[in-house]
Amino acid sequence: MHLRKRVLVTGGAGFLCSYLCERLIREGCEVICCDNFYTGSKRNLTNMLSSPYFELIRHDITFPLYLEVDEIYNLACPASPIHYQNDPVQTTKVNVHGSINMLGLAKRVKARILQASTSEVYGDPTVHPQTEDYWGNVNCIGRRSCYDEGKRCAETLFFDYHRQHQLNIRVVRIFNTYGPRMHPRDGRVVSNFIVQALTDCDITVFGDGSQTRSFCFVDDMVEGIFRMMNNSEGFIGPVNLGNPREFTILELAEQVIRFTGSRSKIVFKPLPEDDPTQRRPNIELAIQKLGWRPTIELEDGLGRTIDYFKKAIANFL
Ligand code: NAD
Ligand code: UDP
Ligand code: UDP
Repeated sequence: MHLRKRVLVTGGAGFLCSYLCERLIREGCEVICCDNFYTGSKRNLTNMLSSPYFELIRHDITFPLYLEVDEIYNLACPASPIHYQNDPVQTTKVNVHGSINMLGLAKRVKARILQASTSEVYGDPTVHPQTEDYWGNVNCIGRRSCYDEGKRCAETLFFDYHRQHQLNIRVVRIFNTYGPRMHPRDGRVVSNFIVQALTDCDITVFGDGSQTRSFCFVDDMVEGIFRMMNNSEGFIGPVNLGNPREFTILELAEQVIRFTGSRSKIVFKPLPEDDPTQRRPNIELAIQKLGWRPTIELEDGLGRTIDYFKKAIANFL
């Protein structure tokens, strides 16, 4: 017999997912974290490893998994372009085979299941800011498509399991999220710029830096994901979660230099294939349905992330 809600978090040893595990334990859940450690690390879980309410399973979700749980957060998938492009076939598999396995599990045990989708389903968007009813502009044969099309197919699977098998689903489209615990060699822009600035290396801006992104601090994102899973209205999404303040990548580089007091110089490198030129979430739906909006400004979030990296770099390099 168990009285606590038993929750499975796939990808739980990753950056974002590890904060979610912590939050769920604080909410009184029993958490089973399933991860193959492709980009995640036990280091991210040190606060939880000794908890009686936390269990860690090394497992690749592209293979079946049989457990008894009440809820599933499906977050397993490398999120940084350099990592998801390193083994693109596996990236499609984790999104397609992995989602089918987790949906099959949810179906068998009648668990509610949430999918971590992404702003990448909009591709290089021609509608700006992006609303959930925009179908997107994705190249299906490019280097990003293993991730973009994989995540799009995962959304299709979630909605088909909902329609065909009456599964209780939730779908969130996560926009760029950052914070402490990102791996210093994760490759994403915020961690790259901070590590480069703190080590006085060149700051590598891809293209001319005029492309835009909107950066959400991890605590805000976890709050949004948690509210979406627990909304009692039966709102299944998809819903955009992200910070609607938009910056050019060049502005971000300048901010990081200012905040770290670094002597680093900005250098320009070729723009990767299909790099989206603009990205900003319209979050009206999240505000209306979940009463959620981000509360942490970039200046504050960057400061906290820089403080983390000042200590963390020494352990990783
Ligand atoms: P991350 O790479 O730090 O974490 C992903 C985790 O999934 C890692 O621990 C990795 O080892 C694990 N994993 C990968 N393949 C697996 C497999 N086959 N079986 C089991 N575990 C596997 O990334 P993150 O930033 O924490 O992102 C978490 C989720 O949120 C991902 O699904 C990502 O696509 C989504 N997301 C993140 C962002 C962001 O900006 N952080 C934006 C959009 C979407
Ligand atoms: N599955 C799983 N754990 C479970 C139940 C199912 O991993 O507890 C996997 C199983 O491998 C299956 C997939 O989920 O291939 C899809 O399950 P579903 O019941 O939807 O389809 P079917 O079993 O008919 O293929
Ligand atoms: N980028 C950059 N320098 C870097 C890493 C990334 O200029 O060292 C750019 C990248 O080309 C993209 C943006 O920053 O335009 C965000 O990249 P990231 O990999 O963080 O995430 P994306 O939103 O592209 O998935």
